[in-house]
Amino acid sequence: MNSLLSSGKSPLLVGAVGVAVGLTLFALGFPSSSVPVTIATILLFCTVFAYVLSSLENVKLLREQFARQELVCLDFGLQLDDTGALSVLAANLGTSSFLLSELEVRTQERPNPQHLQINVVVPAGTLSHIPFDDRIFHNLRADAFVHFDVSLKYRGLAENHQTRWKGFTVERRPHRQLEEGFTGLWGVACPKCSRFDFMGMNTEELPDLDAAWRRQAELENDLEASCPHHHSAQLLEPASTRQLVGVS
Ligand SMILES: [Zn+2]
Repeated sequence: MNSLLSSGKSPLLVGAVGVAVGLTLFALGFPSSSVPVTIATILLFCTVFAYVLSSLENVKLLREQFARQELVCLDFGLQLDDTGALSVLAANLGTSSFLLSELEVRTQERPNPQHLQINVVVPAGTLSHIPFDDRIFHNLRADAFVHFDVSLKYRGLAENHQTRWKGFTVERRPHRQLEEGFTGLWGVACPKCSRFDFMGMNTEELPDLDAAWRRQAELENDLEASCPHHHSAQLLEPASTRQLVGVS
């Protein structure tokens, strides 16, 4: 009732109740007429209807508030410390804690994700550092650049989810460096003549490996179609490609 009186409908209700009381007194004065009683009944019905509507609004607001409290707001990234060790940074920007259950990693050469168990609870409003098991890099061929993307699986109060994939590059020589997105040479070869010729793909604004593989497929189609000249809008300029692989 308090919320009802505090809402904008209270003057209307007070007026309706006043009119209803007046009509009732009027009906008592003229017991033979049914018109005042009918009007009073209609006003009563309107009052009840307004009350039900307002209660429904309150229930909806409560539901929205609960849903917002259960919502998981997770932001994450990778960090490289002075010793060259990688860790995952996971920030809980929501109002409820969640469990980080798994880290998934894909590399340019391995589209099938590798699963690393985490099982760390991230309390609301905190940042967690989770050591990143970078043995995945050991089995790769000795490229200067490792292109990979990661995604986190988590469990909240109401949901089980997986974040989007985020692409990163680790440059291994001369010392380990981490970059967001894909940098360095993403080598491509012509599918028709198999020539490599230091050809590199433009990797600007690629958010994850799915986008990179799609662009690579487009580029290979262009190379095949223009063989042996090898033209494509997705190809890096030869000069910058040579710089990336350290050829003068
Ligand atoms: Zn070719």
